[in-house]
Amino acid sequence: MPYARVIVDIAASAIDREFDYAVPKDYPVDAVPGLRVQVPFGPRHIEGFIVALSDTTAVPQEKIRPLGRPLEERPAILPHLMDLALWMRRRYRCLLVEALRLLIPAEMRKGRVRAKQRNQISLAVLPQDARARAEALPARFARQKQLLALLAGGADDAQVRRAMPDAMPVARALEKRGLVRIGSVRALRTPYRALEMGQDAQHVLTAEQQIAAEAIFRGMDAERGAFLLHGVTGSGKTEVYMRAVAHALEAGRSAIVLVPEIALTPQMVQRFRARFGNRAAVLHSGLSQGERFDEWQRIRAGEVSVAVGARSCVFAPFANVGLIVVDEEHETSYRAENAPRYDAVEVAERRCAAEGATLVLGSATPSVARYYRALHGDYTVLHLDHRVEDRPMPQVQVVDMRRELAAHNKSMFSRPLQQAMAETLARGEQMILFLNRRGFATFVSCRKCGEAMTCPNCDVAMTYHSAEKTLKCHYCGAQLPVPDACPACGSKAIRYFGAGTQKVEQQLAALFPEAKLLRMDRDTTARKDAHLHILKRFAAGEAQILLGTQMVAKGLDFPNVTLVGVMAADTTLHYPDYASAERTFQLIAQVAGRAGRDVKAGRVVVQTYAPDEPPIALAARHDYQTFYAREIMQRQAGQFPPFGRFVRFLVVSAQQQRAAGQARALCKEIARVVAHDTHLASQVLLLAWMPAMLSRLEGRFRYQVLLKMLPDARNDALIDAAHACLNDALFDGCSITMEVDAQHMV
Ligand code: ADP
Ligand code: ZN
Ligand code: ZN
Repeated sequence: MPYARVIVDIAASAIDREFDYAVPKDYPVDAVPGLRVQVPFGPRHIEGFIVALSDTTAVPQEKIRPLGRPLEERPAILPHLMDLALWMRRRYRCLLVEALRLLIPAEMRKGRVRAKQRNQISLAVLPQDARARAEALPARFARQKQLLALLAGGADDAQVRRAMPDAMPVARALEKRGLVRIGSVRALRTPYRALEMGQDAQHVLTAEQQIAAEAIFRGMDAERGAFLLHGVTGSGKTEVYMRAVAHALEAGRSAIVLVPEIALTPQMVQRFRARFGNRAAVLHSGLSQGERFDEWQRIRAGEVSVAVGARSCVFAPFANVGLIVVDEEHETSYRAENAPRYDAVEVAERRCAAEGATLVLGSATPSVARYYRALHGDYTVLHLDHRVEDRPMPQVQVVDMRRELAAHNKSMFSRPLQQAMAETLARGEQMILFLNRRGFATFVSCRKCGEAMTCPNCDVAMTYHSAEKTLKCHYCGAQLPVPDACPACGSKAIRYFGAGTQKVEQQLAALFPEAKLLRMDRDTTARKDAHLHILKRFAAGEAQILLGTQMVAKGLDFPNVTLVGVMAADTTLHYPDYASAERTFQLIAQVAGRAGRDVKAGRVVVQTYAPDEPPIALAARHDYQTFYAREIMQRQAGQFPPFGRFVRFLVVSAQQQRAAGQARALCKEIARVVAHDTHLASQVLLLAWMPAMLSRLEGRFRYQVLLKMLPDARNDALIDAAHACLNDALFDGCSITMEVDAQHMV
């Protein structure tokens, strides 16, 4: 086939199409779809992906140019992943090249990272001959004699390097004599060296685990099936995942395991590494470039069969996936924040369907929309209703902070929490204190006029950091000293509101001066692997208290933790988001699940100003079913997902007028197109433009256009029509992005 259709690696809608090139007769590798190649493009040479081959071309012969050199020996993108990219282009209305870029490590592009090579020295002659030649060498070649003796004695690479750190020049001299060979081997950069393999404890499955595992096995044997594993915290979901992975490996297939945020779940990785050893690779964005590249290569080369990783791991280049597991499927981190705004759970679902693999979604608090789909037959629900070994669910006590205030307790710690902490410390056990960061950080305002100190670039309050005595913006990173006087009215009465982790830390030190504390938040975890070290120290018992933000809410499993304190449960409740009740329920249920996971019983204290709010009261009772029943009714009444869908366009510009004007123009254009088609019009529930909740960010103004529609299959026509309204005239110096099935309206 003489022509290759190539997508060039430039993200611009104007060139989001295939260009034809002639495949030279003597091309050094097989020119197949998925191969990355260099191609002449205008006056330049740029990188591109072959997406198809063809015998014919519409381009006139004199204009056809030949392919440039291949960038790899074998195609970086497997055929089924090429199909996946085409599906993503359609599903997320992104450029094909944007989808293709997700399929390879970013550093592979433009050749920024290559495989690392290491020299390997080996004997070119038999050991006894080497010994004889060493004897025969004159005494002044002492180092050559030494190296020969080492090699003849069977020393391996590491031993040679240890005994003779500078062996290379010596080896080269011996190479000239024909006595040794210098080869080159791939040196692997292995992530998580800091993480010990640990002991694998393969448990005898409980009856519930057994039933769930067998259902999954049957699905895998039939090469299909999608399961929602609804298991309470501590019910042993991970053990079920691992059995399913083992089942895939036995069948000669591979498995992908997605976790919400891998830095926060080192224990999960540890358990997979302990059981599957070097057959498991770890992929996530916190790796160094070299590490990520090598892990990806190991998967692509078929050297490993299990990949554990965060969102992007769903693209792991396995040829033969039998299973994809998504742990904590309800987590919002599975959705990409930047274009293409893909949903890894949806991509996993699509991969499984296309590649004959089985999907397992696990959660203690399934997302309401997906649970609804499960009840309507899209997934088989499997239940783990009990903790392993009949351990009780933790006792949750809800404390009304309004009463604390009425009783003149102005501390951030209620009396029941203080008492529980004292008891826990006295018993020599550990506790986790959870501070919901959103809306709960310290901000600084004027007592006189009420003006809050906001970021000069963003429309948000700045957060006070007592250690450095500065104000920081958590969106753009801007830093300012705390002003002496109010910038609005000049008053000197500056007041500090709310509580960040640092303030809690101070109050704790005053309450329990003898207790040791570890803090885990954005400030203490900026460095690579910092999470890991904090968690390791906590596991080793170096501290009795782990204080942190959202980061401590997930997946942690410490046997000695018997108390969990939620400092303010209601901070997510009033967030302007249709799913704020769901998020509050999930957060409390998840945090509470960290207590009493081993033989010692656990206790949870939840502090709130709204103790009767259903998400809080029901999470405290571990009552998902009632929560779901209430929530789904409210969603239906308001036509929120899964009963309605949101498409959101975000319009951003440095000029407010322009952003607002383009949002209005886009809204009008969509309205005009829809009005022409009664069919489309009947699907629209709402169409409006408005400032985004975060109306200014990093100095740029943000407006949004919201299109709410019925959850009907025909909506794709409506989405297409709306997307088609995004013409170049509209952009006018603004950036406009479209998000299908948008979740947060921030
Ligand atoms: P989940 O992910 O559902 O919260 P985990 O898989 O972390 O629960 O299991 C909780 C704890 O129970 C872990 O320490 C795990 O090793 C242990 N465990 C899992 N299955 C069993 C079993 N069948 N028997 C005994 N212990 C088990
Ligand atoms: Zn800012
Ligand atoms: Zn003021």
